[in-house]
Amino acid sequence: MIDIKSCSREELRQLMLDLGQSAFREKQVFQWLHRGVESFEEMTNLPKALRQALRERCILTVPQVERKQVSKLDGTIKYLWRLADGNCVESVLMRYRHGNTVCVSCEVGCLMGCAFCASTLGGLVRRLSAGEILDQVIFVQKESGQPISNIVMMGIGEPLDNFDSVLRFLELVNDPEGVNIGMRHISLSTCGLVEKIDKLASYQLQLTLSVSLHAPDDETRSRLMPVNRSVGVDRLFQCCKRYFETTGRRISYEYAMVDGVNDHDWQADLLARRLKGVPGHVNLIPLNDVRESPLKPSRRVKAFQQRLEQQGVTVTVRRKLGGDIDASCGQLRRKTLKLSEGES
Ligand code: SAH
Repeated sequence: MIDIKSCSREELRQLMLDLGQSAFREKQVFQWLHRGVESFEEMTNLPKALRQALRERCILTVPQVERKQVSKLDGTIKYLWRLADGNCVESVLMRYRHGNTVCVSCEVGCLMGCAFCASTLGGLVRRLSAGEILDQVIFVQKESGQPISNIVMMGIGEPLDNFDSVLRFLELVNDPEGVNIGMRHISLSTCGLVEKIDKLASYQLQLTLSVSLHAPDDETRSRLMPVNRSVGVDRLFQCCKRYFETTGRRISYEYAMVDGVNDHDWQADLLARRLKGVPGHVNLIPLNDVRESPLKPSRRVKAFQQRLEQQGVTVTVRRKLGGDIDASCGQLRRKTLKLSEGES
């Protein structure tokens, strides 16, 4: 069976030809899929026989809303989707003045094991298909009735650990006949898989790459992020420099502020030194609560910001959205149950 929503335009065109159809049917099918039809029957401008043939050859899955939570503070909406195989992932719709942003997940669980993040508890279950990532954008839009103008790949999972599906997703969501989100309106956040960052650079996409840095020194970064134990901060920054040189795009460095761990003045100074010669900006994230983690939010966000700024670094502080519904960075989970109800 063909996973039709993960097909590229070229693959869809080939499918139409295989089915004895003319190539223009490809565009019609593509448009229907990306508008969020739930069955081939809804593709009313296709001949009945074609709809039947597609039904026989293809899988067309639709995520179900398992739970929807709306923040009373800022209108942020968090969706828990049930996928066709029963696994669940979360997406978040955030409203900003410059437009609506959807934060999508790319894996069920996560392999990376960062100390402060809820998404990694329980490890990786499986990677999502391109169609399953895309569906989050299509169905958040359809379900909420809100047009989406920006995408952040900052939900559950490590995008570069699911490289091929993520790349296909980017191609699909960027298509003018589909959801049509420009690359400059897409951010991809990675824990820093250097080979994959190099590979991504070779595609020269105009998206914004966010690198989860969280510490400028190996000792602290390895403590917070196991991925650092094999890469190290030096190699990561060399890689970021190459990325900038290849794509011309400045990198955004995410830095979740943890009390007494990565918020010291010497770390701000080291970070500022490392950023010399690698154009980019720092996005400080006030640590969000994850109940299984003993780490506490830093009280030095402002001081750390000022210390960086004094040394010529551009710094922003990420606004917390959806605080009352656990919809902030690092709080998304693949399960619905609360700990008290037996979550592992
Ligand atoms: N796997 C990707 C996407 C993760 S989510 C990555 O590692 O970049 C987006 C950001 O939220 C990452 O920078 C992540 O490190 C950060 N984050 C995770 N848990 C957090 C928490 N409890 N508080 C604040 N930020 C957190």
